[in-house]
Amino acid sequence: MMAAGEEDMAEKKLRGSGGYAIAKVSDDEQKMANLGGPELFLAGIGRLDADRFVKYFCNKCERDFEGAPTLSYDNPNEDLGEGVTLVEKGEYKCRACSATIAQYRKFSAPAQAPPQVAPKAEIAPAPESAITPVPAAVISPTQDGGFVSISQLVGMSAYDGEAMLVGKIEEVGLRKQGGRATISVKIVSNAGEKKEVQWDGISKIGDIVLLKAAGAPAQAGKCPSCGYQNEAGAAFCEECGAKL
Ligand SMILES: [Zn+2]
Ligand SMILES: [Zn+2]
Repeated sequence: MMAAGEEDMAEKKLRGSGGYAIAKVSDDEQKMANLGGPELFLAGIGRLDADRFVKYFCNKCERDFEGAPTLSYDNPNEDLGEGVTLVEKGEYKCRACSATIAQYRKFSAPAQAPPQVAPKAEIAPAPESAITPVPAAVISPTQDGGFVSISQLVGMSAYDGEAMLVGKIEEVGLRKQGGRATISVKIVSNAGEKKEVQWDGISKIGDIVLLKAAGAPAQAGKCPSCGYQNEAGAAFCEECGAKL
């Protein structure tokens, strides 16, 4: 019989923005570190005791170090509005050069709205916005075969390619570009800043939404199934025939 504890720990590679750590993590922590992609992120776990770290790698020093990076954190309990509180922010730093290995933020937020509850339309659309809300009847909330329900996206947390929380998805709509319309999501950060991300700027959708790394802008005409770069505006992929 295995008690929950040391025996359940597995050594895992946890990525950060300035390196990575090899640390012993529990199954639950592994789930927290999994932001929807193949890799695990220290930012998803947050604070880990120093004795959990086997070693870490600093991108700046270009070498690894035995043991844990230094961790500094504070608990600002900063009220960010709409019931969201910044409970803790922390930073893992290299012991040798003080470069940031990973950062994290912990928020306490109201539980994610159940998908069947329509989001309150309390924010009037900006006049210049060409976003047209998607009528619920058009997209049925099934989850078969990789189908993603639009209504489930609303309220999900969005993380960027560095596993930092960008904000929550507030609205999903269609962005008209010439004669075409692409699905676009509006993300509102905890600081209240709004950002719009096109569908092809989204890398993974799981319990959270993982955005593609900044600096790798989505290319128009790139096939989502085979990656072939078609001409911008193409309706079907030249290579595999998938609908673009
Ligand atoms: Zn270093
Ligand atoms: Zn293709």
